[in-house]
Order: sequence, then structure tokens, then C-alpha cells
Amino acid sequence: MTQTATPATDPGRANSTPTYQLFIAGEWVDSTTGETFESRNPANTNDVVGRFQQGGPADVARAIRAAEMAGPMWRRTPAPKRGEILYRFGQLMADNKERLSRAMTREMGKVLAEARGDVQEGIDIAFLMAGEGRRMFGDTVPSELPDKWAMSIRQPIGVAGIITPWNFPIAIPCWKMMPALVTGNTVIFKPSSDTPHCATLLVELMAEAGFPAGTVNLVTGAGSDVGDAIVESPDVPVISVTGNTATGRRIAERAARRLKRVSLELGGKNGIVVLADADLDLATDGIIWSAFGTTGQRCTACSRVIVERPALEPLLERLERRARALRLGDGLEPTTDVGPLINDAGRSKVEEYIGIGRREGELVMGGGRPETPGLQNGFFFEPTIFAGVKPMDRIGQEEIFGPVLSVIPVDDYQGAVTALNQTRYGLSSSIYTSDANAAFRAMRDFETGIVYVNAGTIGAETHLPFGGVKETGNGHREAGHAALDTYTEWKAIYVDFSGRLQRAQIDNQPD
Ligand code: NAP
Repeated sequence: MTQTATPATDPGRANSTPTYQLFIAGEWVDSTTGETFESRNPANTNDVVGRFQQGGPADVARAIRAAEMAGPMWRRTPAPKRGEILYRFGQLMADNKERLSRAMTREMGKVLAEARGDVQEGIDIAFLMAGEGRRMFGDTVPSELPDKWAMSIRQPIGVAGIITPWNFPIAIPCWKMMPALVTGNTVIFKPSSDTPHCATLLVELMAEAGFPAGTVNLVTGAGSDVGDAIVESPDVPVISVTGNTATGRRIAERAARRLKRVSLELGGKNGIVVLADADLDLATDGIIWSAFGTTGQRCTACSRVIVERPALEPLLERLERRARALRLGDGLEPTTDVGPLINDAGRSKVEEYIGIGRREGELVMGGGRPETPGLQNGFFFEPTIFAGVKPMDRIGQEEIFGPVLSVIPVDDYQGAVTALNQTRYGLSSSIYTSDANAAFRAMRDFETGIVYVNAGTIGAETHLPFGGVKETGNGHREAGHAALDTYTEWKAIYVDFSGRLQRAQIDNQPD
């Protein structure tokens, strides 16, 4: 098996942009379309990371064939053996952590410390799921009849279509591929068109770790083309997608016609509630980190602060002071706190919401492109705070996916709960309070898949279930042992060693 992507296919030109390939059936290959696309550094668009194959339906068909061919061998490989390959992959990621992190910062802009965290999430889930190779528990339960055993086992579904976003370009593919592979599925991986380089580096390491040819296939290219072909194929029975809610809804509608299993991790509008008795310095730390980390482009980013009125002014004063001190720049510079947005479309969307916010609330700070010298070639945007936002305002309701924070004043705890839950999303939430009773009420009352107490909205750990309620998803969870449910079918098995016909629900009943 070829283990490294071809980095340069134009030997005639010194320093030419490297061109990378698809990975199908254990080989790095060109797309049948003959077309490529560029990935550029969002902090400096003059920096071209590489050229990538513009895959098409024919490439997806090749990848699916390869995955189907590898399927029987892989599902018969004992799960602990599959787990050993995951362990090797996790270790290779750990050995290459700095290289992967730097490549990530260059390709999608998050600051280096956060990129390292992203890679670490990938390592953590690889090790967690490697262990599942020796667990993957089913139930062994007593039968209601004598001389009979009853048990349940998990079985793989088949070829899994893995469609991922750019904001966690290492962690999210690992969150999906590790449980899919350890349970015996084979995968077609279609990464975001904004982060094909991270995907390529990841798959190189997977090949090096020893995943057999055809078990992992990488097809880069447009969602409307490659993604669509995966979703429409009758030979890909399970799809896992992370993206915005509109994308997820379209995929779910099409996949439903073929009765596929679809796991959706979609948009968010995460809120932090600050009660009057909160430690405001602690709350400020958590809000600044949650709102402006990854330039507000985390699915769990906090974009709403819901604050009891007595704490409003002192909190706003702290938030503004801290946000004004944040330094924008290239995420590879150690002094940078906030990197660029992902692309021009992402920045235009943020700018559109700034216009909406100016009509709905009061702009406290930010709201424009920075004028700092050296940032003109990147998609930078100032950390922005709006005050006086009402819960149902558009900036308080819609996912902006940028460094824009809305501060919503409320009268009391009940008002805070109402405001927090009055959204169509339900991923993450948080409460800052020194009242243990209020904290427990929040754990009960907040309608989100994740609740934090006295911490920001970000920081999920890989051994707990991750996902959201309402239009953030469709009831599936990633990470933890819950992730196995997406990629397995339960099989119930009964073994009767009585040597005679025994009829359940009949022979063991009184006449
Ligand atoms: P996106 O535009 O929805 O894209 C996500 C993926 O879907 C990309 O690989 C994209 O390919 C692909 N895609 C687009 N249209 C498709 C189609 N018609 N058929 C099949 N695939 C298609 O989202 P994004 O901008 O990359 O990511 C940001 C969004 O993800 C935000 O809404 C964020 O909240 C959400 N997110 C959610 C979670 C969570 O766990 N809930 C985690 C992270 C991010 P192309 O790139 O080629 O268009």
C-alpha cells in the first residue's frame, strides 16, 4: 500500500504548489475528473497550502467498491485486533501532534494552542475507541425459559459515509471514523473543501498505522458533488455528518428515501446564564474563551450571554475590557489570541449580522475588519459585543459563526431559563452561580445536550456523549460509548440447549 500522499506532481517547477491525491483501495490516485482545487491560508490568502483533487461521483463509486471489497475481511478481523490498529494510529498522531497542529493552523486559522487541542481530541478518541475493541459490551441476560441463553451483540452496518466540517478538521473526522472502524465498518471520508490538507495528513497516518487497503477511503471535492454521491448511494447505509442545520436537513431528507441511518451534528446558538450571585471574574474568563476562541467558530461557541440585571453593568464592563485586549493575528504567532475567519463567505455572513445587530441592539465594541497592518490578506474580524439584545432578536437566535456576542438582560432565573431555551438549537449551555440549588435547577431545566456549571460552553471530553437536542441534531451522539450506536446494529441471539421445543410467552405461563 502506498502510504504517503504525493505532495508534488509538477517536478518542472521549483517551489510549485504541491498537489495531493485521493486515497482509494490503499492507493493515492488522481480524480477521474482531472480537476483540482486550492486550499489557502485564511490568515494570508497569498499562501497556498496545496491543490487537491476535485473528486466526482465516479471517484465515490470507486471508493465505495473498495470499501465493500474490504468489508468482509475487516468485519471478521477480531475487534481487539482492529483496536490495536487504532492504538497505533493514536500513537502516530501523538508522535506527529506538532506537525498536524501547525498544518491545521495554517489551513483553517485557529491559534496553535487550540489546534493542539483539536489534535489531542483525535488522539483521545482513537485511544478510547481502541479500548472498545476489547469491550463493545452487549447484554447476556437470563432467559425466561430453562436451559436457554439469551444475549445481544453489536454488528457493523457496512460502508459508512463520513462528511465533516472545517472547524475541527482532525478531531471530528476521528470522532466519526474511530467508532465506525473499531466496530467493523469501512469508511468513505469526505472532508470539508476548506480543510483537505488536514484530511490528507490524517489519512496518511491511518495508512501508516496499518488500516488495511479499502477500509479507509478519502475523496475530496464539493459537498454538492462528492457528498451528494455518498448520500445517494444505495451501498452506503450509514451517514454521519457534521455541518450546518440546512446541510444536515437536506442530507437527512435524501437519505430518508433510502431508509439510511443518519447521524447529524448541526448548528448551535449556545448561551451562558450569569446570575447575580456569580463570580463575575470567573464568568468573564469563561465567556471570553467560549465566545472568541476559534474566532467564535466552534459549534459550542457561546454567542449569547443571558445575565440577571444586577450583574449586567459590572459584567459588561469586564467583558469589554477583556475583549479589547485580545490580539488578532496569524495563529502560528505565539502572541495571537484570535485568528481569522475561515473564508470570505464566512466573513460576509458575519458582516451581514453586524448590520442586523446594529438595528436590534447596541454595539458595544468591534463590528468591523481590523485596520492593524499585516492583517489585510486574511479574513480577520474584530471581536464584537452587542448589549441590550432581546431573546427573540435575530442576533440572539441565528447562528452567526463568528466572534459576535449578544448580551441579553433578564429579571430572574426563570427569565433566564426561558430566554436560554427559546431557540431552535440545543447543543451546549452554561450557568455561572454560587447557589448550588440554582445550579441543579439549571442542569434539569436547560434544553441542551451539554450543560456546564461555572465553566464556559466549550470543553467537551471524549468519554462523555456529545451532541445536541432540537435542531442541533437528530438524537444521535458522538464520543463516549454512545458513539457505537451510530455504527452498529444490535443482534439478539437465543441458544436453546433443552433439546425440546420451548415456546416463549406460552410454555412458561399458568394454564
Ligand atoms: P457545512 O457547510 O454544512 O459543510 C459540512 C460538510 O457537508 C462539508 O464537508 C460540506 O462539503 C458537506 N456538504 C455540503 N453540502 C452537501 C450536500 N449537499 N451533500 C453532502 N454533503 C454536503 O458546514 P461547515 O461550514 O463546514 O461547518 C460549520 C457548521 O458545522 C456550523 O453550523 C457548526 O455549528 C456545525 N458544527 C456542528 C457541530 C456539532 O457537533 N453539532 C460540530 C462542528 C460544527 P463542502 O465543504 O465541500 O461544501
